[in-house]
Amino acid sequence: MGLTRSYRLDGVSVDALRGVSLRIGRGEFVAIVGPSGSGKSTLMHLLGCLDRPTSGVLRVGGVDVSTLDDIRLAELRNQTIGFVFQSFHLLARTPALDNVALPLVYRGVARAERRARARAALEAVGLGHRLDHRPSQMSGGEQQRVAIARALVGDPQVVLADEPTGNLDSRNGADVMALLERLNADNGVAVVLVTHEPEVAGRARRQIHVRDGRIELDTGVVAGGGRAGGSGEDG
Ligand code: ADP
Ligand code: MG
Repeated sequence: MGLTRSYRLDGVSVDALRGVSLRIGRGEFVAIVGPSGSGKSTLMHLLGCLDRPTSGVLRVGGVDVSTLDDIRLAELRNQTIGFVFQSFHLLARTPALDNVALPLVYRGVARAERRARARAALEAVGLGHRLDHRPSQMSGGEQQRVAIARALVGDPQVVLADEPTGNLDSRNGADVMALLERLNADNGVAVVLVTHEPEVAGRARRQIHVRDGRIELDTGVVAGGGRAGGSGEDG
């Protein structure tokens, strides 16, 4: 609640977020839209606990993250949040199976179980026949599906996707969206995605418009100050 984030750049302060309050509930499907530089990625980094707010309180599952040290924060992130990025962020020369299994290494899951779960996650995104392929040998759409499998392998409560279709052609972009929608519907994973594309945003049940570091419109906030949906992550 009341999240701000300022960056210092050459002695000048840049206020990327100027007081943002929102609550993301279980199983929601949310699109964050807004012009370039409006603070969307900064907000996603805060929601994903990749970064800490300059001020304001961020709670994940009821826990105020400012009470956690960096190690506990990394654990929370690893156990509750999956990430998908515009540029995939995969290890280009490492087989898909090992890319997907990597988050489980940090959790101390045994190798055989890691491989079994990574295989199941790749099968769930339609890449059961590409386990040994390396991202450098795959199309953009396939790489993004590997990234989605990696986001899901830890059984997260929320997947955060920053422009997941931004580097894909329209057909692959539509496939990735359909996959995120299916995961949301079938597994109840909350999905929060940033997009520039109105047709992508239009498929989300809730849209949050960000401008100049503030929320300009949140279709999930109902009149009277409440909000539709359940509870979960609280910004
Ligand atoms: P968006 O994702 O909506 O394009 P960002 O959250 O990336 O916007 O950026 C919001 C503002 O914060 C921009 O003015 C950007 O230049 C600035 N900014 C983002 N990251 C940094 C950083 N690491 N250091 C300094 N300024 C940053
Ligand atoms: Mg961005």
